Amino acid sequence: MTTSTFDGRPGVLDRRGRALRDLRISVTDRCNFRCTYCMPAEVFGRDYAFLPHSEVLTYEEIRRLAAIFVDLGVGKLRITGGEPLVRKALPDLIAMLAQLRTPEADPVDLTLTTNGSALRPLARPLADAGLRRITVSLDSLDDATFRRMNGVDFPVTKVLDGIAAAREAGLAPIKVNMVVKRGENEASVVPMARWARDEGLVLRFIEYMDVGTANGWRLDDVVSAAEIVAAIDAELPLQAVEANYRGEVAGRWRYRDDSGEIGVIASVTQPFCGDCTRARLSAEGKLYTCLFSAVGTDLRAPLRSGASDEDLRAILERVWAARTDRYSELRTEATSHLPRVEMFALGG
Ligand code: SAM
Ligand code: SF4
Ligand code: SF4
Repeated sequence: MTTSTFDGRPGVLDRRGRALRDLRISVTDRCNFRCTYCMPAEVFGRDYAFLPHSEVLTYEEIRRLAAIFVDLGVGKLRITGGEPLVRKALPDLIAMLAQLRTPEADPVDLTLTTNGSALRPLARPLADAGLRRITVSLDSLDDATFRRMNGVDFPVTKVLDGIAAAREAGLAPIKVNMVVKRGENEASVVPMARWARDEGLVLRFIEYMDVGTANGWRLDDVVSAAEIVAAIDAELPLQAVEANYRGEVAGRWRYRDDSGEIGVIASVTQPFCGDCTRARLSAEGKLYTCLFSAVGTDLRAPLRSGASDEDLRAILERVWAARTDRYSELRTEATSHLPRVEMFALGG
């Protein structure tokens, strides 16, 4: 393996010169929420067929694949879903992944994205298993707005209590993701900014994306990063900050009075495909090289039919080396109707 011209670390480059650095691992396609922008309840009703247990990768299978990815230069693993905390015994997987070391012998940066609904009982076991930090998705502090957006009438107080549990367990930093959708929660932008700043949480606003095909996405429903920043800046003055590292997806802004900072993930209005170093492993063991992919590469079949680590590594290298994805740079309203896998299925 050669040293990459991307960031000076060993690694494999895709056809646009991007290194493979991050892996998002979806541990389940199931979720206890029905967020309007992700799994709208009208589409994902009681009779929706989620993956049967036998088709979902076991923790040992995930660990084995993750180890090969890390060997190939991945330094950051994010556990996601669906809702990762609905999968049984998740701390067992965390304990297995926390053991992994990069080729430079560093621990991997292991994190998890959750809707926060089950964090009260699980934050401590996750931290004890080796999780260091966490991201909680929260779209509003206003209970009525939050209940409407999560689609299952889930109260905001329970997520806030989950965040408190994460803090008590020593998980840090705690990041909060807020998807902003026009007509649903723009009014929550400034109150969320104020709250996160007061609580010392790293808040990241996410432009509403045309992930999957079920959410009825329209460009008009996107509240742009520029609008979000302007709304906050009018009340809490902001200043742009340089990116921490190449491939950082969130544009960073700090409060002029030094009281903290926010991130804005502008995948619609300011695409960052040129620096996209992320691969995704779905719960059923398919590898996707873009959030908007329609097809993935099956890793479960070789895993379950005796492939060696070298065989699996060769597949990963081949898939990454052939990668040309840059969907967000090409997006139009028309492309949002192209076939693609749902976000909860491939790991948001
Ligand atoms: N269930 C977990 C959660 O909600 O945090 C993890 C999986 S979820 C698919 C990962 C992230 O994707 C969440 O922060 C969620 O808000 C975000 N997301 C889902 N649908 C989105 C959309 N249409 N546009 C932008 N972000 C979206
Ligand atoms: Fe579930 Fe997360 Fe999707 Fe909401 S965003 S429906 S919590 S997977
Ligand atoms: Fe990466 Fe695909 Fe998103 Fe572009 S559209 S940033 S290539 S995941």
